[in-house]
Amino acid sequence: MIADAKRLIVKIGSSLLVDEASGRVRRAWLNSLCDDVARCRARGQEVLLVSSGAVAVGRRHLGLTPPLRLEEKQAAAATGQIRLAHAYQEALEAHGITVAQVLLTLEDSEDRRRYLNARTTLETLLHLGAVPVINENDTVATAEIRFGDNDRLAARVAQMVSADALVLFSDIDGLYTADPRKDPTAQRLEEVRDITPEIEAMAGDPGTGYGSGGMVTKLNAARICLSAGCRMAICKGEPLNPLLVLEHGAPATWFVPSASARTARKQWIFGSMKPAGTLHLDAGAAKALAAGKSLLPAGVTAVEGEFDSGDCVLVANGDGRILARGLVAYSADEARRIMGRKSSGIEAALGYRGRDELIHRDDLVMES
Ligand code: GLU
Repeated sequence: MIADAKRLIVKIGSSLLVDEASGRVRRAWLNSLCDDVARCRARGQEVLLVSSGAVAVGRRHLGLTPPLRLEEKQAAAATGQIRLAHAYQEALEAHGITVAQVLLTLEDSEDRRRYLNARTTLETLLHLGAVPVINENDTVATAEIRFGDNDRLAARVAQMVSADALVLFSDIDGLYTADPRKDPTAQRLEEVRDITPEIEAMAGDPGTGYGSGGMVTKLNAARICLSAGCRMAICKGEPLNPLLVLEHGAPATWFVPSASARTARKQWIFGSMKPAGTLHLDAGAAKALAAGKSLLPAGVTAVEGEFDSGDCVLVANGDGRILARGLVAYSADEARRIMGRKSSGIEAALGYRGRDELIHRDDLVMES
């Protein structure tokens, strides 16, 4: 389940990474995790880390005692995040791996333009061989634009980059039929394919549900993952080399989707979007599209409608027959300026160098 994930996300909670008493990063554990990451990278897997711990580290450093006011939490995050990033950089540098810090807010995953931007940046980092270390942008996030918990953030990132697997390292080794601390007959589930009301009932109430981050937030993350075609594990993160231990069959609950990541992500993208315009293609571009290629500006003969980059548009051939729909990378105005041009002419037409494709093939769904 781990070894065959081309793109793997690992979510690390504060309690695993930060020593409760001293507020320092637990280096030995972090080094062992980074050994695991290096092993995955060496066999060709892409790895993204979603890590908490900024507030936990920064709070001690600033000498703040809980309960913290919002602005104190944000100040703690600002202080802690830089230390956290530094710790990851040091631990991965030992393996010759470059670390990239990415801080996201909920808006970045909900607004389509920001979503496309964040995704392109993450893709670029992965292609360049870096390991993104992602956290919520706690210093600017107010209540309305917060993910609130990194389980959900990790699931959204999984959706954004079409990850194949997400591992949530926790203080519990999976989902149980009841709270195992209270009910000795509670049994761990090996595999879940659907989040039914029965499964939801097992997680308990929000807030009081078992597990430090709460089982309810983990189920919410699982729901996002399943709809994105990404499998997800809940397992204990405490042992050294936690990924290796999981790979060797440590107890866990695996949430397994029915559709592949790519199909599911496309369904998710297009499920709720109304097309805002139409791009008309010449015969060559129509053929390239049918062959699974991206849509380049050169093959576009007309642009209909008003849309922004990130909007959903229809793609039609010369006779007006709808061939596909997709998320367009440029606004209608820009598309009109670059249509018919080679990708190398985009900069001259717009004054900046944008993406080569008008619609990337990952953002295209052919009409059947
Ligand atoms: N972003 C927070 C931090 O870095 C943690 C949020 C969470 O653990 O869910 O401290």
